[in-house]
Amino acid sequence: MVATEVASRLKQYQPSARILLVEAGPDVSNDPDILQFSTLNFIGGKFDWGYKSTPQKGYDGRQIDVPSGRALGGGSVINGCGWFRGSRSDYDSWAEVVNDQRWSYEGQLPYFKKTEKWYNDKNSDEHGRSGTMHIESPISTNRIYPLASTVEKAWEEFHVRQLPHNDSNAGANIGFGELNENRAQGARQIAPLAYPLDGVTVLTNTLVNSIIVDASNKATGIQLGDGTKVHADEVIVAAGAYRTPQLLMLSGLGPKETLDRHDIAVKADIPDVGQNFNDHVMVYLNWKLKDPSKGFAIGSSNEIFAEPRFATGTPLSHVAYTEVPRAALEAAIAKDEGVNGGVVDPNHHHLLKRDWALMENIVMYLAIPPVPTDGTHISTAQMALKPTSRGSVTIASADPADAPVIDPNYFATEVDRTVWRHSLRRIAAFMAGEDTVLGREVVAEKTPFPGFERIDAAGSSDAYLDSRVKAHGVSTFHGCGTCSMGKVVDTELRVKGVENLRIIDASVIPIAVGAHIQATVYALAEQAAVIIAKEKGVAI
Ligand SMILES: Cc1cc2nc3c(=O)[nH]c(=O)nc-3n(C[C@H](O)[C@H](O)[C@H](O)COP(=O)(O)OP(=O)(O)OC[C@H]3O[C@@H](n4cnc5c(N)ncnc54)[C@H](O)[C@@H]3O)c2cc1C
Repeated sequence: MVATEVASRLKQYQPSARILLVEAGPDVSNDPDILQFSTLNFIGGKFDWGYKSTPQKGYDGRQIDVPSGRALGGGSVINGCGWFRGSRSDYDSWAEVVNDQRWSYEGQLPYFKKTEKWYNDKNSDEHGRSGTMHIESPISTNRIYPLASTVEKAWEEFHVRQLPHNDSNAGANIGFGELNENRAQGARQIAPLAYPLDGVTVLTNTLVNSIIVDASNKATGIQLGDGTKVHADEVIVAAGAYRTPQLLMLSGLGPKETLDRHDIAVKADIPDVGQNFNDHVMVYLNWKLKDPSKGFAIGSSNEIFAEPRFATGTPLSHVAYTEVPRAALEAAIAKDEGVNGGVVDPNHHHLLKRDWALMENIVMYLAIPPVPTDGTHISTAQMALKPTSRGSVTIASADPADAPVIDPNYFATEVDRTVWRHSLRRIAAFMAGEDTVLGREVVAEKTPFPGFERIDAAGSSDAYLDSRVKAHGVSTFHGCGTCSMGKVVDTELRVKGVENLRIIDASVIPIAVGAHIQATVYALAEQAAVIIAKEKGVAI
């Protein structure tokens, strides 16, 4: 995704630069199908690398689909267009981890703004109005869903407050706000259209086999799949969280033990390459409506859903971010860390130092499979925002054509289990309990997944709730962290111990950002391009 962005910006900042962008997939910028609304219909298609995770211990051996964009523009070609910024706490803790304020919230804010063409001027200190991506919302596209005001009221009744300006993308996200998407009147905006590549030489359908590193540990170019060697004064890797660590390892840059196992000559022993993998887990649930004839859900006879404006975005209105009681979190951290007596130092653990939203909760106005979209159900999607489970990416062989080995190590910590138990109970109370208008007037009951009991806010045991995540937790496709800043790259994105080599993509994010990650990845690439341009003496 950001390879295009970085190439485009570097050419803009330094027009004399000669830049070659090499992409394994095709250029689909002129493919009208790509821009259509049905956002995720490319998962498993020809622009998806189509990975599978290793059997997940935390999921009793289940393997998870791990889609990943394979085209000029990477993930932007197949992603869901959800536009979410993490909280101030996310970026401030990132800056703390790497000891560089450029990566704090204030440090990254100018670059978030640079990526945004925000749809209103209500929060102008927080948003750009003339950036690269059109950002829209249900209200800005006049998609007033029949249940939207009811959902809003239900969150208020549940003591989850509306965020100022209905905006959860302004640094504070405990509460609820409107959905945002990077669409232009509903159309997907892919990276090569948002960031033009005029003057950049682009080689598509070409796999990079390795980075050429000389005897003095200087990157001098790349080797392509057909053996061609391309000299370069500098190499920037932007192959994403799965393939960037693979490419480094294939080039002799990675954990020595792994390289030895595959007979790859070690250029630099960098044990952290491929470590610190993290991803957000999502769980969907279906909820049966008391009276489907009211036309609350897509698939019902409500004619409003056939109007073109309702085809401009995902069928939901609000996104709510909720916390987990601190005592439960402390106990879980104590268990994970084996702290005697169960008392943890609040200054020690990142989840205790700041206030965090730990679960994203969305009510969607349609059913999720296996329930048909027939207007009888709505659904919820929950996404755990700050997982502490960490996985890894490594190589299967020394063959660049082989898929990397992806082990997300989902659901491996007591913190993650605690967050899910609490949040599943809460969503059951929110959707079907007496405390909210949704439960009292709209939702009849939770529709159990075939073979499972209904989740019950009061009655479901921890073990039962764990079994639901094990059976139904899926990836939200936000893999990151595998070449973390501070460990593998420095705060100017240079690979430690290797000259003339940088990494700019999701793999450098050192923490679990509490939001869908594309806005963060775009912003980090904006800042990276400025860092590089300044290094070359360009005044920006
Ligand atoms: C199905 C899906 C839905 C998503 N939905 C959302 C969403 O709604 N909101 C959100 O915020 N985020 C979403 N994401 C996540 C977001 O798209 C990614 O975080 C983002 O694409 C990461 O950007 P990147 O530049 O790090 O890597 P990528 O976008 O993966 O780009 C890496 C590029 O490098 C190419 N490449 C890899 N290896 C080589 C090689 N050896 N030689 C040449 N080229 C190579 C790949 O083909 C790819 O084009 C989604 C992701 C997916 C897959």
